[in-house]
Amino acid sequence: MNNNFLPFSKPTIDEATISAVSDVLRSGWLTSGPRVAEFEKQLSDYFGGRPVRTFNSGTCTMEIALRIAGIGAGDEVITTPISWVATANVILEVGATPVFADIDPVTRNIDLDRVEAAITSRTRAIIPVYLAGRPLDMDRLYAIAAKYKLRVIEDAAQAIGSRWQGKPVGSFGDFVSFSFQANKNITTSEGGCLVLNNAAEAVLAEKYRLQGVSRSGWDGIDVDVLGGKYNMTDIAAAIGLGQFAKLPDITAHRRKLAQHYFKTLGTDFEAQTGAQLPPADFENTNWHLFQIVLPERITRPEFMEKMKAYNIGIGFHYAPIHLFSLYRGLGFKEGMFPVAERVGRQIVSLPMFYAMTIADVERTCAAMREVLAG
Ligand SMILES: *Cc1c(COP(=O)(O)O)cnc(C)c1O
Repeated sequence: MNNNFLPFSKPTIDEATISAVSDVLRSGWLTSGPRVAEFEKQLSDYFGGRPVRTFNSGTCTMEIALRIAGIGAGDEVITTPISWVATANVILEVGATPVFADIDPVTRNIDLDRVEAAITSRTRAIIPVYLAGRPLDMDRLYAIAAKYKLRVIEDAAQAIGSRWQGKPVGSFGDFVSFSFQANKNITTSEGGCLVLNNAAEAVLAEKYRLQGVSRSGWDGIDVDVLGGKYNMTDIAAAIGLGQFAKLPDITAHRRKLAQHYFKTLGTDFEAQTGAQLPPADFENTNWHLFQIVLPERITRPEFMEKMKAYNIGIGFHYAPIHLFSLYRGLGFKEGMFPVAERVGRQIVSLPMFYAMTIADVERTCAAMREVLAG
């Protein structure tokens, strides 16, 4: 038995980043300043020169994108039931109506056939989620958006470093939202960024980020929209800059770990255990998570408990959003999205993080084989 606890996720902050944060703390300027400007510049370069603004969470970037798009009361927004609840909460936050479309059982992402079937005359936007960092079929997604004149707010919270046909997620498309929360592939402790389409949207994003304030004239300010308080600090941006420099390494290491999971589990794993592996995609996915769907004969709490006995932490992403009390109160109920409900009941996230080793993968696979054998 290995006595070292293996968590399912853990951030790695290098010494250079720690001293960059110390420099900010000693500088006398702690709020948004030069580090935020530098972080936004580097992100914009990475996203092919598109405008990028940073925020204090990923969640607020999606709410702000909805506001920039003018979406509110009376409008419908289509999203997936399998995501962090933030994805649907932002729709309610702006007064719009969330409409769920069931997921594809293989990719566990929203099923684009079902998205198309859910479109009505009131539909204004789609919020697709790239679960575990796995992109959708982007050509199809944007063909649907163009056909029905819908905005897209990509919830790419988990997808920094992911690609589509060789291009980074975020370097094309409509609004693209990323999270830098502590467990994401790169972190600012808490934070996020939004990729926008043009300068006018970027100006609006800045207003919504800070109380609706705009500079006007040489001596004054004005407030012409209702904004909030969502700016990123230079402390967070200093962490982000240190992390962002490592993005290629982080993504490559996660791909290597994912490949080793497949190799160690072997081609007979699904047939022998009844568990379902994720699609083996090493082109596009950044492997934010390595998720398997458990066979029905073991419950998720039972599996997590048994893996804990081997000192291995297992994550759980996500419970179907439509079955939370808040959403049941809006009329959603069991049976509406059967694929999401089955996957949401049995999905688990195996350990996957930058500092994890090949030996950790092997240890996890060995424990899992024993737990799933009976
Ligand atoms: C992390 C995450 C969010 C929320 O990001 P925060 O930075 O925590 O606000 C939203 N959607 C998904 C899919 C996420 O993984």
